[in-house]
Amino acid sequence: MKWWGWGVDGVGFHHEDKPGFAPFVKFAVGLDLLTAERAGEPAFDKLKVGKSNATAALLKTLTGIVGADNVSTDDMLRVIHTYGKSLRDLVRIRGNMIERVPDIVVYPADEAETQKIVDAAVAANAVIIPFGGGSNIGGSLEPAPEEKRTIISLDLGRLREVLDIDAESGLARIQAGAQGPDLEKQLNDRGWTIGHFPDSFTHSTVGGWVATRSSGMQSDKYGDIADIARGMRVVRPGGTLVLRPLPSTSSGPSVREMILGSEGRLGVITEVTVQVHRIPEKRDVYAYFFPNWEAGIKTMQQISESDAAPSITRISDARETAFTLATSKDRKGLDKFMAGKVLPWIMGRKWGKDKLDQICISFIAYEGSPEHAKRQRKLVEKMIRANGGLTIIGTGPGILYDQKKFDTPYLRDFLLDMGAAGDVSETAAPWSKLNQVHDAVYAAAQKAYDQVGVQGWIMSHMSHSYHSGACLYFTFAFVFDKDPIAEYNIVKNAIQQSFVDNDATISHHHGVGTEHSAWLEEDISAEGVKIMTGLFDANDAAHNFNPGKILPSAKKATPARKSPATKAPAAKSATAKAPAAKASTAKKAPAKAAKK
Ligand code: FAD
Repeated sequence: MKWWGWGVDGVGFHHEDKPGFAPFVKFAVGLDLLTAERAGEPAFDKLKVGKSNATAALLKTLTGIVGADNVSTDDMLRVIHTYGKSLRDLVRIRGNMIERVPDIVVYPADEAETQKIVDAAVAANAVIIPFGGGSNIGGSLEPAPEEKRTIISLDLGRLREVLDIDAESGLARIQAGAQGPDLEKQLNDRGWTIGHFPDSFTHSTVGGWVATRSSGMQSDKYGDIADIARGMRVVRPGGTLVLRPLPSTSSGPSVREMILGSEGRLGVITEVTVQVHRIPEKRDVYAYFFPNWEAGIKTMQQISESDAAPSITRISDARETAFTLATSKDRKGLDKFMAGKVLPWIMGRKWGKDKLDQICISFIAYEGSPEHAKRQRKLVEKMIRANGGLTIIGTGPGILYDQKKFDTPYLRDFLLDMGAAGDVSETAAPWSKLNQVHDAVYAAAQKAYDQVGVQGWIMSHMSHSYHSGACLYFTFAFVFDKDPIAEYNIVKNAIQQSFVDNDATISHHHGVGTEHSAWLEEDISAEGVKIMTGLFDANDAAHNFNPGKILPSAKKATPARKSPATKAPAAKSATAKAPAAKASTAKKAPAKAAKK
């Protein structure tokens, strides 16, 4: 990936073909994309990169294990291996605010080499940070600034094979460094799919998914990675932890669960055996509209309690619906007429013209045999209609959603180029608390924007349903004023705090890292932190494995949660109603909403 942003060189977000986007951004955060100046690509040679402190002896040992081509102290490689892709990471890297970078990057070819590297590193009391795709947004990779020991970034990128498939059990042994598209292609070629598709799929690895307890958009059918990953091999000093793939087991507290979400603190995952599925004959993503958020959430809960088993259940709130429509490409001819005139007319008749700013778009996917998919859809649509939803839209927007889902991450870089923050915070809560969490987060974000003195935006969707609750995913944005990191801290911290204050978790699928560790105790209680501290201390007494992650470290947590002095109140409310959501006429919407 680019050292300063998401994805590969030459690919980026463009708004010129999306006529509703610029007016929407102006409405949401007050940024005029048509006149604002776009920052150019940062220059690597301007970056201040600390010198590698690798000793000749350790380099010689590592070179002896993997060969000279697979050990590097190159500055660019070390910088790429320093951070993940959180907003904080990108702001720091673009702003030349890099602290400690790894001293050595090493690429083992297999598990045997990984074992030798780990043993040599521990013998030399070096720090080992396993590296998958570098896509995390939890601060899970960055070395502690004060770390004096040699830091080795152990990149699993050469371990990328699907080794074996047990077709009778639907279990595939996959090397930990395999990235999403690569492993999915290897599986697809043999008629299988993993069913795990996080938005970061294109640049994240199976080892990283396990180490961060990731969740993909089709988790309603396939489960989170915690369900999908059945067996593992984890290299630890002096030996390899082997967890056979079992459908279930009662052998005490689950060691498998201890590795899930361990963020490199308990060893290096070299192999994961995952549950795979035959590629479904049919897969359709349908779009629906609801008159408002409450009706949508109620329907999602009813679906989760029913016999219906869709693979995606997702609903955007009114503000995210407006955003979704604003990022649509310009339509032509009949399509434009239907989306721009006919659909709003139907919705206006059904729910009232003055209520169009409350409508919420939902995407629901059905997979399996054609008969199964059809039956699921019938069951779901009955519930949607019973709650006042509209079921006439079909698969058109769903196809677009499917196509765009891996492109959206590029938008954040574009906003940063324009001087604006765009970031996410996600959580999970019981059904009984979801609306409370939603409203509390909005209020907290607005208060934070007022404190910073900026016009901010926040929007949300619900996805990943469970029997007892679901994930709420918030996206927030504002134009930086003077101090991007301090301003970002105020907003991000307010949102995280409102999660725990309202009985929601600190993260549903982004892990803890350093970004969320300050709230760990509020999430799992002081006794929970004690148990986790014991786990890491007992298994890694010298803290050689990715130290400083997950557990609250006073150094990191306290300053991050402090608020700088307040400034003048913001001009516009982050909880202002979304512009009326007219498919493909979103161009006009901001003007209408701005008058309110
Ligand atoms: P890295 O970022 O390389 O590492 C993450 C952590 O895992 C580090 O602590 C690292 O040391 C450890 N680690 C990595 N590999 C190993 C290994 N082999 N052994 C031991 N430890 C290891 N996450 C989701 O779950 N769902 C999403 O939909 C999603 N969307 C995202 C969208 C964007 C735009 C971005 C930037 C991120 C998104 N993420 C999402 C977060 C991120 O992609 C996940 O956390 C992912 O699981 C990280 O995998 P990775 O291979 O990139 O790991």
